[in-house]
Amino acid sequence: MVAKIIDGNAVAKQVRAEYRTRVEGLVALGCKPGLAVILVGDNPASKVYVDKKAKACAEVGLHSEVYRFPADVHQDVIIAEIAKLNADPSIHGILVQLPLPPHFQIRQVLETISHEKDVDGFHLYNVGGLVVGGIVFPPCTPYGVQRLLESENISVAGQNVVVVGASNIVGKPMALMLMQSEATVVICHAKTRDLAQFTILADILVVAAGVPNLILPQMVKTGAVVIDVGINRLPNGRLVGDVDFEGVKKKASYITPVPGGVGPMTVTMLVVNTVQSAERMLERTKGLAPQPSQVTVLA
Ligand code: NAP
Repeated sequence: MVAKIIDGNAVAKQVRAEYRTRVEGLVALGCKPGLAVILVGDNPASKVYVDKKAKACAEVGLHSEVYRFPADVHQDVIIAEIAKLNADPSIHGILVQLPLPPHFQIRQVLETISHEKDVDGFHLYNVGGLVVGGIVFPPCTPYGVQRLLESENISVAGQNVVVVGASNIVGKPMALMLMQSEATVVICHAKTRDLAQFTILADILVVAAGVPNLILPQMVKTGAVVIDVGINRLPNGRLVGDVDFEGVKKKASYITPVPGGVGPMTVTMLVVNTVQSAERMLERTKGLAPQPSQVTVLA
């Protein structure tokens, strides 16, 4: 068996085209979706991510603003900036680029963002929405994985899904979203004993550990769907995921590459969340109800 490669760039392009049309509809109603990004310090990777986000916004027709602060800025300055953005009707999404410098209380900063503009989905209100079901901003990376699975008509209901990695931004929300979609979910982490005894049971395996070559062919069931979220830079400069791509692709039915799999979807789903936020705000302020397909309901 040779796996079908799920092309994240192609799916991302398709989603962006779909949302460009929705943005045009919003603009015609006098509402241009706006995203504000707060960047603290000069972490080179963060700068690259912020640039990618601004570029994706421009491509889909959104307005975006980047607020840059030095690494030694006082947390209160950031909190005051977020408060201003919360009250700004031209802004529908606010995100604080992580990581923040060590002197920040990250949770305090994230809880300052209005849960109605929390397009990263990290506010406790939105995390709670993932647990109990409801309208939320799903965190962008797991949301992108969900969209990739949908693009191949891969249903997760009743499937055994194993998520490797239990972080707040990828593994945990991924597991919750899959559970809401009626998968049977196992979540593994660094202290899991004998990882292979779990991964081998997976009909769908989602890996987000940040460890190159963590998943070898003998750990994967024949015909499994393998989604590699990991992004690792090897000493030789090559970018790889967490899965032995060449080995596992001979055993899986579907596999995502790195780069070109989940990565392009993460940024795209940020745009999606921002547009959906603008649609919801327009509904609230003008009583213009979006179509049912325009809201994210995890129930
Ligand atoms: P993280 O916060 O470091 O979390 C890593 C998770 O993996 C933790 O839960 C950790 O377990 C677990 N883990 C580490 N080593 C493991 C092992 N040997 N076996 C099983 N589990 C193990 O990282 P993250 O932010 O979730 O990111 C994970 C990876 O995805 C990274 O490579 C990151 O660059 C990538 N990423 C990609 C995208 C994208 O758009 N493609 C987006 C976000 C992240 P403990 O909880 O026990 O420590």
